[in-house]
Amino acid sequence: MKSTRIALVSSELAPFAKTGGLADVAAGLSRYLRTAGHDVRLFLPLYRSIREGGWPLEPSKHVPEIELSFGSRTYTFSISTTPLPAPDGSIARRAPYVHLVDCPALFDRPGIYTQDGDEPLRFALLSRAAIETCQRMQWAPDVFHLNDWHTGLLPLTLRTLYAWDRLFEQTRTVMTIHNIGYQGVFDVSVLEELGLMDQRRHLDQDDLREGKVNFLKTGLLHADAITTVSRRYAEEIQTPEYGMGLDGILRRRKDVLHGIVNGIDYGDWNPETDTLIPHRYTADDLEGKRDNKRALLESFSLAFDERVPVLGIVSRLTHQKGFDLLPVVLPVLLQREDLRVLVLGSGEASHEEYFQWLRDTWPTKVGIYRGYDNDLAHRIEAGADMFLMPSRYEPCGLNQMYSLKYGTVPIVRRTGGLADTVEPFDSATGEGTGFLFDAFESEALHAALREALGVWQEPETWARLVKNGMAQDFSWERQGPLYEALYEALTTPPG
Ligand code: ADP
Repeated sequence: MKSTRIALVSSELAPFAKTGGLADVAAGLSRYLRTAGHDVRLFLPLYRSIREGGWPLEPSKHVPEIELSFGSRTYTFSISTTPLPAPDGSIARRAPYVHLVDCPALFDRPGIYTQDGDEPLRFALLSRAAIETCQRMQWAPDVFHLNDWHTGLLPLTLRTLYAWDRLFEQTRTVMTIHNIGYQGVFDVSVLEELGLMDQRRHLDQDDLREGKVNFLKTGLLHADAITTVSRRYAEEIQTPEYGMGLDGILRRRKDVLHGIVNGIDYGDWNPETDTLIPHRYTADDLEGKRDNKRALLESFSLAFDERVPVLGIVSRLTHQKGFDLLPVVLPVLLQREDLRVLVLGSGEASHEEYFQWLRDTWPTKVGIYRGYDNDLAHRIEAGADMFLMPSRYEPCGLNQMYSLKYGTVPIVRRTGGLADTVEPFDSATGEGTGFLFDAFESEALHAALREALGVWQEPETWARLVKNGMAQDFSWERQGPLYEALYEALTTPPG
């Protein structure tokens, strides 16, 4: 495979700036591509948290202070670079380089995302800074790989404001949708502030009539290729039910829309090597998993019994994640069955309060930790027997893939990446890796949980199910080549 020059632009990148899966995917994919011999350069805002994070930042020689005009305003930025560390913190010889866009007027703020009026400008600058930096480096990317609404203006900007620069003549753009629920919709007045008045005819005209501009939609209109993070989600977002208003444009562009399931980093998430769990284990020797279960229950002050299953939940507690199905289901199960439920999460008050109520009502069966705790997430993956994700929609989902690796059987709604990565278990054949339900209804979830609890009663069958899951491989070594093939198809001249 030929070596491709890839400029990956993102608002998040682990470990520098993370609020969700996007950060992990940007990092995992870039490391894979670099190791596979491609020239990968990453573009990320230099947020205050990165500046103060003690990272080794090197001011770029190629990019001194650059002035960029947006409407009547001018901003100055420069570039600092730093290598992307491996998951264990070490710097690989072939680490990709991160180009941090240093524009204190826009990025020296308390958070990654803000509610400030200039939020669209912050990310419009990221796109232009990435293009300008490539110009200064005289480096022509074969592909600009863009991620979510924050980078949605880049394809149009490249083809209009920078159309004069022959450096980008062969450059293609890929727009990846990590979650269509966030589109970057702003009042049409931002066009003036962004200096995009002359580009109005290239924007969605219905939106303009309604007085708005949609960054993600603009990206989907102008990118050469569109990807999303699972095959099933690529189908779903073409329907009104899941498309969140973008299904029409996605149906029109379906020939260039591809679903590629995210890879996961087994350097971080592997029960054989995980230093965040008390006991390590393998598919051939699960004794350590039992010890992790004991330790986990103890940490929640709950009694351990090998034969009593533990159901784990680790999640943002938002509407997307579907926990509003639980109130009809869990009390019935907790009343009738010997079962432990352990929840790690934070988010909407109604969900937090519900889990707290559950804990108060069944204090010997339920444990809850409100907040974000990566170590505990690992310990739940290792110590639970089953893992619940009843998502309303799930572009890819990472936790179900971690669960499979840890021998923790996923119980999931058949949607998005959950449908692509969990295969229904069939006790007759012994094939399959988890339990799925279709309708977003309590009864359907209840049936899946009952099915799981039924199989739990047959230890030999359960052991087979656990082994099937642990044998799955969702590494970047498997998923990364799908992106390479896409880049290659995009950059190979027809014929
Ligand atoms: P999403 O990106 O929609 O939140 P994913 O399943 O793709 O969902 O990724 C969620 C990631 O965040 C996983 O790595 C999961 O372990 C982690 N996570 C979510 N909530 C918490 C929490 N409260 N504490 C620790 N880790 C969490």
